[in-house]
Amino acid sequence: MYLFIHDGTAEIRDARHLQGKGTFETEEILRKELNLGFRGSVYGIGPAGENLVRFAMISGDGGHVVAHNGMGAVMGSKKLKAIVVARGKAGFAVKDKAAVERLTRELHEDAKTKGSKRIYEWGTGGGFSAAALGGWLPIKNYTTGIFPEHEKLDGQYIRTHFKMKDNPCWACQLRHCKLCEVTEGPYKGFKGEEPEYEGLAAWGSVIGNADPGATVMLNWFNDQVGMDLNEAGWTVGWAMECYEKGVFTQKDLGGLDLKWGNVGAAKELLKQIAHRQGIGSLLAEGVKRASEKTGGEAAKWAIYTHTGAAPRGHDHRGRWCEMLDTCTSGNSTIEATRGGVFPERSGYPPVFDKFSPWEVAAINAKENGWLPFVDCLGICAFTCPNRELTVQCVNAVTGWDLDLKGATHIGRRVVNLLRVFNLRHGLDPKNERPSFRYSETPKDGPVKGRAIQPHFDFMVRIYRELMGWDPETGRPLPQTLKSLGLEELIEKF
Ligand code: SF4
Repeated sequence: MYLFIHDGTAEIRDARHLQGKGTFETEEILRKELNLGFRGSVYGIGPAGENLVRFAMISGDGGHVVAHNGMGAVMGSKKLKAIVVARGKAGFAVKDKAAVERLTRELHEDAKTKGSKRIYEWGTGGGFSAAALGGWLPIKNYTTGIFPEHEKLDGQYIRTHFKMKDNPCWACQLRHCKLCEVTEGPYKGFKGEEPEYEGLAAWGSVIGNADPGATVMLNWFNDQVGMDLNEAGWTVGWAMECYEKGVFTQKDLGGLDLKWGNVGAAKELLKQIAHRQGIGSLLAEGVKRASEKTGGEAAKWAIYTHTGAAPRGHDHRGRWCEMLDTCTSGNSTIEATRGGVFPERSGYPPVFDKFSPWEVAAINAKENGWLPFVDCLGICAFTCPNRELTVQCVNAVTGWDLDLKGATHIGRRVVNLLRVFNLRHGLDPKNERPSFRYSETPKDGPVKGRAIQPHFDFMVRIYRELMGWDPETGRPLPQTLKSLGLEELIEKF
């Protein structure tokens, strides 16, 4: 079935003709059938969601995705192929329209020229080489920290070599999302979305591929079958390491020669995962479960948190704030900071030593609140790096009288509410830690020898203390909930 929402009406409609279709095809068919044009959105699942791949995603508006935490599998389990929302005729109230127009112009100018300048010019892929040089680019399933070909996968290379076309989220002037046509190499002529940084990591360095055109093809294919590319990338990278070390044979893989950088084999494996065919059925369980079921040494090579999620496409052994955040957050990805890189935007001093356990724990605890506030507004964090202006915009829309502190307080309420919810639904705080490989000391590259494992438990304790949570159990303390106006939750988890 699919859900069609239009002008206050919600209808469940037959979607049998869409069964097995990819996300892009589903969108195209429904747009035509409903005569939507661009006046609405179609978000749907591909075969991966239908087959309950645990990391299936939802995609719409030409490749914009809801990827993390397996939301596509949730839709699949409800036999819901897509949600279509037609743009309605009703407007919505804005308190001070003139102020909103002025402030959004200022906010955009600030984002374009300062806070999101690199994203505006080169996309998120514009940070690929910086990641390689800084020691947070994930390479061959974390088996090395060296990737000499990084410049060819940087957004700057792609945007100066491939043919580009804007494909922004609706009405976004920052328009960092693009479509591209590959102009060189074996995939010359292929048209797809420009991969984001995480797509370049997953389909480039994680699997040992240095051809940018191939990343465009794999990125498109993975979106079409409908899977979170981060977890899909870790899963393929882990399977490649298993193949290299003889844990999986060509026979186990249905004849695939899954050596590092074999793009054709990676594509075929993605197809098997999406359809749960052959070894794809094991891998569709996600990298944590697949590695645990495989057992032996291979269980140590998978990259995940013990709560069950796979991280974003970084090597967090070079970005400790983000590893701590990924393991302790309520959403199983970044919650407190974007890698601890912008504390000055909240008026804190910049990070002095990003490998100091004290400082890492403290910056995450101090910063947590802003990003959840932005997320619950339903806007994109790239578009509003200037926090003061963002709060002024919210006030102009709503007529509220918020300041930055008040906005962060709202975000802290979200963080604590989510934590209580997760504890009530079975979160075991002992699992808020990285897998062995995720936190193994790098053997080479820019952060060679930086060992996070000996410090991790200490960082978690300090972080919890600073958040007003019990350092052992991770439970928010009664006084913390009271101070956030959430006292009604004290007895409820
Ligand atoms: S809304 Fe955000 S993600 Fe979408 S195009 Fe604009 S900057 Fe990019």
